[in-house]
Amino acid sequence: MKWLKTLRVRFALWVGLLLFVVLVGFGVYVYFRMLHNLTSAVDDYLRLSATQAMVAVEVSNGQITFDSSLPEGVAAANLVQRGLTIRIFDPTGHMVQSYGPFGYYPVDQKVLAASRGGSAGFSIIYNAAGDDIRAYTAPVFSNKQVVAIIQVAQDAGNIQDTMDSLGITLLLVIPMIVLIAGVGGYFLASRALAPIDAITRMAHRISAEDLSKRLDLPRTDDEVGRLASTLDEMLARLDHSFQRERQFTADASHELRTPLTAMQTILSVVRQERRTQAEYERAFDDMAEVTDRLNNLTENLLDLARRDGHPSSVQEPVDLSNLLRDVSDSMRPLAEEKGLALECSVPDGLALTGDSDELIRLFVNLLDNAIQYTPAGRIALSAGKTRGNGMMVCVADTGVGIAPEHLPKIFDRFYRVDSSRARRGAGLGLAIAQEIAREHSGGIKVRSEVGQGTSFTVTLQ
Ligand code: ADP
Repeated sequence: MKWLKTLRVRFALWVGLLLFVVLVGFGVYVYFRMLHNLTSAVDDYLRLSATQAMVAVEVSNGQITFDSSLPEGVAAANLVQRGLTIRIFDPTGHMVQSYGPFGYYPVDQKVLAASRGGSAGFSIIYNAAGDDIRAYTAPVFSNKQVVAIIQVAQDAGNIQDTMDSLGITLLLVIPMIVLIAGVGGYFLASRALAPIDAITRMAHRISAEDLSKRLDLPRTDDEVGRLASTLDEMLARLDHSFQRERQFTADASHELRTPLTAMQTILSVVRQERRTQAEYERAFDDMAEVTDRLNNLTENLLDLARRDGHPSSVQEPVDLSNLLRDVSDSMRPLAEEKGLALECSVPDGLALTGDSDELIRLFVNLLDNAIQYTPAGRIALSAGKTRGNGMMVCVADTGVGIAPEHLPKIFDRFYRVDSSRARRGAGLGLAIAQEIAREHSGGIKVRSEVGQGTSFTVTLQ
């Protein structure tokens, strides 16, 4: 029964079932409407004929005659010629005269009794062997007295014939239409769902190792076309992030290898022969510097790994004005050590909600870079409010600057303009800084001119 679960079969069954219900409802309505219309047409004809025949009934001295020699009587005789049967009864219910083919058919006394009481009505006077004889029985009045009863009857068998053939037609046609609609529905559904099968087959073939495959179905603007292109876009995004991940692992391994090789070299040089106390001390200092770098690098790597997809959950009120002044105070000795002036012009009252530790890290990174890449001159830290509800902080230096071709890449992980120039960093500082700014609904922009200096502008919300 697995086939029953496929969408195309279920769709075909639903179409068939729905159409069946609608057509049966329609058929029943048409059948009974037609029956009612045909019966009313016969009844109208019988009532009219009875009215015409009534004028030919004569009663004198208790004698009832149906005079067909009168003009009206001629009309009554015409009715007989048209296949009608006319029967005349006296008020006691005895038949006086009868004309037409069904004259001697049984008389329903109940119907006659009703007419004696003064009311007219329709009845079936015989129904067997394919005959269905319908009659209209009505009293004939004279001086408000029922003096005779007239009954006009006609074979209504043709109504039944018509209804039978209509019934057979409906019984044959309805299942046929249902079958055609079901088969049509199945093929339509198969056509519409063919791309879904292609998607399923392709999805089976795509693995995490090879995300470069695409569905590449013909572009159509329907639901399936949109699904296919959305899946292709998703695959492209996954492919990109997998590649990024791979690149990150490769870069990280490479960065880790450099200090490890340096440590190995220091150790092997020291172990070659006996060294003086001063040489050992230098070797220890070198080792300490390398481990410091290694430590710094692993911390940054851990930070980035933790951050990916999990922004800091700390949301506290931060006094940005004080925070910036504290950061610049803590970095000033480092700047002055290099003979650089660090100016800080921050107005009071800059406040936001965020993670103060992260913000400190951001500005320390920027100031640290500014000090590192400025041989002489000054560094300026300034801040203010933006036109919206945000804030901006600018760190400008008069340092070496960054060439235009490097500017778009400096926020990439592990990107360094000149690896020999940046001996301390591994190219992760700005990547982390940018992530922190984004976590605070902001960003970082950079402007730089080689030999003139660089300025980083951080916006925060
Ligand atoms: P690193 O940790 O190596 O400094 P960053 O991500 O902080 O890495 O910076 C990336 C690169 O951008 C650095 O290698 C450096 O060349 C360049 N850079 C960053 N800040 C400045 C600056 N203030 N002046 C000149 N170059 C800079």
